Amino acid sequence: MIHPYEAVIGLECHAQLLTKSKLFCSCSTKFGDAPNANTCPVCLGLPGALPVFNRVALMMAVKASLGLNCKINTESQWARKNYFYPDLPKGYQISQYDRPLAQYGFIEIRVDGKQKKVGIQRVHMEEDAGKSLHEGFPDSNRSTYLDFNRSGVPLIEIVSDPYIRSSAEAYDYLARLKQILEYLSVCDGNMEEGSLRCDANVSVRRIGEQKFGTRTELKNINSFRFVQKAIDYEVNRQIEVIESGGQVVQETRLWNSLEERTVSMRSKEEAHDYRYFPDPDLPPLVADSEWIKTIQQSMPELPESRRERFMKEYALSEYDAGVLTTTRALADFLEETAKLCGQAKTAANWIMGDLLRFYNDNNVNLKDLSNSPLTPTMLAGMISLVDKGTISGKIAKTVMEEMYKSGKDPQQIIEEKGLVQISNAAEIERIVNQILEENPKPVQQYRLGKTGNFGFFVGQVMKATGGRANPQTVNEILKKRLAG
Ligand code: ADP
Ligand code: MG
Ligand code: ZN
Repeated sequence: MIHPYEAVIGLECHAQLLTKSKLFCSCSTKFGDAPNANTCPVCLGLPGALPVFNRVALMMAVKASLGLNCKINTESQWARKNYFYPDLPKGYQISQYDRPLAQYGFIEIRVDGKQKKVGIQRVHMEEDAGKSLHEGFPDSNRSTYLDFNRSGVPLIEIVSDPYIRSSAEAYDYLARLKQILEYLSVCDGNMEEGSLRCDANVSVRRIGEQKFGTRTELKNINSFRFVQKAIDYEVNRQIEVIESGGQVVQETRLWNSLEERTVSMRSKEEAHDYRYFPDPDLPPLVADSEWIKTIQQSMPELPESRRERFMKEYALSEYDAGVLTTTRALADFLEETAKLCGQAKTAANWIMGDLLRFYNDNNVNLKDLSNSPLTPTMLAGMISLVDKGTISGKIAKTVMEEMYKSGKDPQQIIEEKGLVQISNAAEIERIVNQILEENPKPVQQYRLGKTGNFGFFVGQVMKATGGRANPQTVNEILKKRLAG
């Protein structure tokens, strides 16, 4: 059934910044250390401890904001967001409220070939809370442990406009956000480990209606696929509520990934519930424009622009350019290879066709290719060998595999394995003669006009030479000798 409804979606994403130390103390941010190993009076919220701001976190937040096309406010304000939770020992979170770090940005998304800009309302900085670990639920023998290692880790919150219209668009928005943050090396984008978290605000309205419907906020979604599923579930649920004469209640709902549904958690809190006020322990946050300019100049090229450049400069298809810019490391791999051998398109084909398959088979994370056994220098070397006619394209496939397996240079591999292409005409002629002698019948048929069996002879020569014969020379000599 087609409903006359459309979905209205806005995403609030939290990204953990990749600083070594926390936002307001020098404790380590390392993931997976022993519980409470990385704590001090500041991040434990002990009375009298005072915050000291981490400048690297600001640098990363500014980078992210610029990458999201935002305008940076040279002066922003820290605010206390007050609420009680066992893993929030201060009783408040240091965040930003009415004066955020950055505003008015956008992410360009593309779904089903249609491109559109999704506005970003704001990017603000805040500290993370600790973690509660529940054990034994729902038995009577239950306990909760508190781990404050995450308490005080720097986050940015990225709030989108309610301009996303489908779960597919939400997925694409998230994928691009993650990619931008990864390109900038400000967040590792790992949703499973919680370094990128996303809440989805969802409402529906009748198509043509101007006013937004009542929204619910979906929390606890820890993968891209679940974001899509949770939104789809919630859109259908809301439509059903309205269709059956009810009203959507503004509330926070949790995504239950086992049951694949959302369940009501609490009525939605409003900003005034948090009693925001400027943090008296911290001066306004100043990002002066000269410094922002320096950061701007150090920004790497971002995925969208790199993708478009690959299409133009290297004549790659949109699909190929998209794949090859998945990560900055992969795009760098291509460009380094292209620079070394001068053949970007060929390099792209080898990467798309063979290298990505090796990486996939070996579960290589494309974010970091610094340990790749096959390097741009090796790939460029191999492409040059094909170019010079030292090896055939077919042999090159074997060399690719061998390079990946052994990490050896292409030149060394072809010498060790005797893979050098046979281009010597006399040698090929000798082999051709032998093949013709061994196959009098096909030769006779060919000479009587059944020239369609030419490929048979080529195949025989290739077989006899282990695929090393130069195909062009083989063709020429075969044609000549078969003519009689
Ligand atoms: P809060 O501070 O309570 O979370 P905001 O007004 O800051 O609320 O909005 C949070 C998110 O909700 C934003 O991403 C915004 O785009 C989205 N949003 C606001 N209204 C709606 C709506 N009616 N339907 C869907 N999303 C909405
Ligand atoms: Mg919210
Ligand atoms: Zn600390």
